[in-house]
Amino acid sequence: MKFGGTSVGMTTGLSQLLSIVLYEHERWTNLILVVSALEGVTDALIEAAHLAQLNNQRGYRRIVATLRTRHLALIEHLPLGTTEKSALQTDLDRLLFDMLDTCQSVAERHEDTLKPEIADKIVHVGERLAARVVAALLRQNNLRGVALDATDLIITNNAYGNATPDLALTRERIANNLLPLLKRGIIPVVTGYIGSSVTGKPTTLGRGGSDYTASVLGVGSDAREVWVWTDVDGLMTTDPREVDNARVIPTLSYEEAAELAYFGARILHPRMINPLREKMIPLRIRNVYTPQQPGTLVREKVAGMQPAIRAVTSIQGLGMSTNHSGSLADLAKLVDVKLSEITGSNTDVMISSQSSTQSFVCFVIPTSAGPDALHSLQVALSESEESDGWNTRPVQVVTVIGTRLGEIHTLTADILLSLEGVPILALAQGPSHCSLSLVVETQYGEIAVSRIHNLILKSS
Ligand code: ADP
Ligand code: ASP
Ligand code: MG
Repeated sequence: MKFGGTSVGMTTGLSQLLSIVLYEHERWTNLILVVSALEGVTDALIEAAHLAQLNNQRGYRRIVATLRTRHLALIEHLPLGTTEKSALQTDLDRLLFDMLDTCQSVAERHEDTLKPEIADKIVHVGERLAARVVAALLRQNNLRGVALDATDLIITNNAYGNATPDLALTRERIANNLLPLLKRGIIPVVTGYIGSSVTGKPTTLGRGGSDYTASVLGVGSDAREVWVWTDVDGLMTTDPREVDNARVIPTLSYEEAAELAYFGARILHPRMINPLREKMIPLRIRNVYTPQQPGTLVREKVAGMQPAIRAVTSIQGLGMSTNHSGSLADLAKLVDVKLSEITGSNTDVMISSQSSTQSFVCFVIPTSAGPDALHSLQVALSESEESDGWNTRPVQVVTVIGTRLGEIHTLTADILLSLEGVPILALAQGPSHCSLSLVVETQYGEIAVSRIHNLILKSS
């Protein structure tokens, strides 16, 4: 069970977590918890890392002081005994002190840019703090909670900032360091998002990576199910923060959920579905504040499902156009190399179209690359000689997810009809036949999502 930053960031969320664990602990032989940093903490830590690189001592110290106050206030409001409380405070101070030390050495190095490798070392502390708070809360309520750092469990490649776990090595670590705890009746509280390279260097799995941790731990421990507890009632027809009347989707196939996450639905990490699909482990998404709701179940495709449009999502992309035609391979390679240098992640050519005199390409930047990736990439490309002659601008990629979309052409026609008046820069059907993506200028993104969403509500 993974609890996101939206759940562990507040006392109300933590007391919900506690009652859920008390209840589910009776129903399952073994439980493994994964926790993210408190909401907003990773953003603050990334900022601290940037300030350290700029040698702004006051700046990063202020952030550390704010984080300390916030965690202490949270601990203060929890029903913890005095011994547990003071042990936790000591732990918290030690972790923050070590992190301050790292910032200090970054500041002394006077480097031009902040390497993802250094940032990873600093951001690790967010999840470590949260796991200790949650484990202490469990212990205080007669559950055997133990905080575990995923650096001893999740072994990844060297793509700092957006690393991918090595499932075989991770499985070995799980067998040695996690399963024995389960046998002793312990509930491990594992840090989400973080891991370490084969040589023991700190890595992170990309923004929103605690979902991915849960998926990898589920696969590596042969879990019966993986549950993601968050602040909404399940996977919905669209982002409920953007559209008021979004509805919960009770069941989705792995393919549909993967496409939804890949094309921008922040609720799931884009790479978490594949490992689950391979092992056919069901995934549930539930609301920590309304645990009486069933949430969404993601599982293998059920035969005989009627064609339907089910959800719409949107993501910023980078649109590039030029007044000539020709091979796009070099450009795709350049963009990929630049993004990989900045964030450790890879782009994908989403959609390209050409006429005899013009070319247009749109790249999707995965949400796990972080909120600044698009802007940094655009700057890097504008400074690069190799992309001379290409006009680069942010665009919006709006994606419709559905069942058997490719077979029923009237669905595509209905979608296009609903977008009357919205200029479409490019259009592509996903190879898995469950997604259709449209590229529009940024100012049309919202209206396109809302029109398609109305179509989904009307047709369901
Ligand atoms: P957590 O801290 O639990 O990981 P996130 O903020 O990462 O939470 O993900 C939950 C958020 O995802 C929701 O609050 C919602 O705004 C957003 N979201 C985006 N698309 C969807 C969707 N299709 N269904 C549900 N939530 C979505
Ligand atoms: N704390 C990390 C982030 O903010 C991981 C997560 O939330 O899943 O990206
Ligand atoms: Mg998340």
